[in-house]
Amino acid sequence: MTKVLAGRRPGHPLPGGTIDTVPELPEVESLAVFLRERAAGAEIDWAASTAISVLKTYQPDLSALSGQKVTGTARYGKFLDLVSGPEPLHLVMHLARAGWLRWRDDLPEQCPKPGKSPLGFRLRFTDGSGFDLTEAGSKKRLAVYLVTDPQQVPGVASLGPDPLAEDFTVDVLAGLLKGRRTQIKGVLRDQKILAGVGNAYSDEVLHAAKMSPFKLASSLTPDEVASLYAAMTESLREAVARSAGLAAADLKAEKKSGLRVHGRTGQPCPVCGDTVLEVSFADSSLQYCPTCQTGGKPLADRRMSRLLK
Ligand SMILES: [Zn+2]
Repeated sequence: MTKVLAGRRPGHPLPGGTIDTVPELPEVESLAVFLRERAAGAEIDWAASTAISVLKTYQPDLSALSGQKVTGTARYGKFLDLVSGPEPLHLVMHLARAGWLRWRDDLPEQCPKPGKSPLGFRLRFTDGSGFDLTEAGSKKRLAVYLVTDPQQVPGVASLGPDPLAEDFTVDVLAGLLKGRRTQIKGVLRDQKILAGVGNAYSDEVLHAAKMSPFKLASSLTPDEVASLYAAMTESLREAVARSAGLAAADLKAEKKSGLRVHGRTGQPCPVCGDTVLEVSFADSSLQYCPTCQTGGKPLADRRMSRLLK
C-alpha cells in the first residue's frame, strides 16, 4: 500500500477541502463486524429514540425490541442492520455526516430523555452495554428504521449493486455505465446505481483509476471500464482491510488517514507529488490530482464561472 503520509511535510498549508466523514461502504462494513462481535447473542433491554426526526418507522414500535436477542448484523450500501429474533426484526441505521455509532460498556438503566444533545438513539443490552447513535450540528440526517424486512426501507430497496459483492463483475459495471451521459463522479456516488460509494471514496476510486471526475460515463472505453473496476474493488477492499478490527471509535481517524486526494486540497498527491485541487460538484466539492487524472489541466469550476458571468 502507498504510504499516504509520506508526502506531508511540515509547514505545508492545511487542507482546504473538508473531509466527508459520512461512513461509506468500508466503515459501515467494519461497524457491522464490530457490532456482530460485541453484540451477537446479547439480549436487548430497550431502545429509545431521543430526537424526533431519527425514527422513520412507527410499526413495529421500538418496544418490540425488548427481550429480543441479536442474531447478526448486515450491511446494505451505507446502511447498517442489527438483526434480532425470535421475532424477525431489523434495526436498520443510516449514519449521518456529523454522526457516529459509539459503543458503551456501561449505560444507565433509564431511557434518556429527548433533548438537544447530539444523542439521537440509544440501545441498551441487559448486561448494561449498548450503543449510542449521535449526530452533532443542526442538519438532522441520522435515520433509524425498525422493520421486519430490510427491503421495507426505501433507501435499501432502491440500492444498486454492491461493488464488493461476488457477482459484481466488470460486465456489471459496464452495464451500469452504458448510455449514461452524466459525469462519472455523479454516477459513482449515486446509491441507486451503485451501493455504498459516497463522496470520499468516489474521489479515491477516480484517483486510483487515473480518471477525470467530469468524464461522461457513457464515453468510457472497455479498457477504461476495466481499470475503473480494478481501482474501485481494490480501493474499497483496501479500505475495508485497513479498518477491519478497529473499534468504532477509531474508524473515522482511519478513514481520514487512508485518503489520498479526498479532503486533501493543497497537499501533494502521494502518487506524483502534484498539488491536489478542488472543484465544486453538485452540492459539495470534489478533490483530484491534475497530473494523475486530467492531463495536468485544472478542471473548470462551473459554479464559479457562472457566478462571474
Ligand atoms: Zn498525482
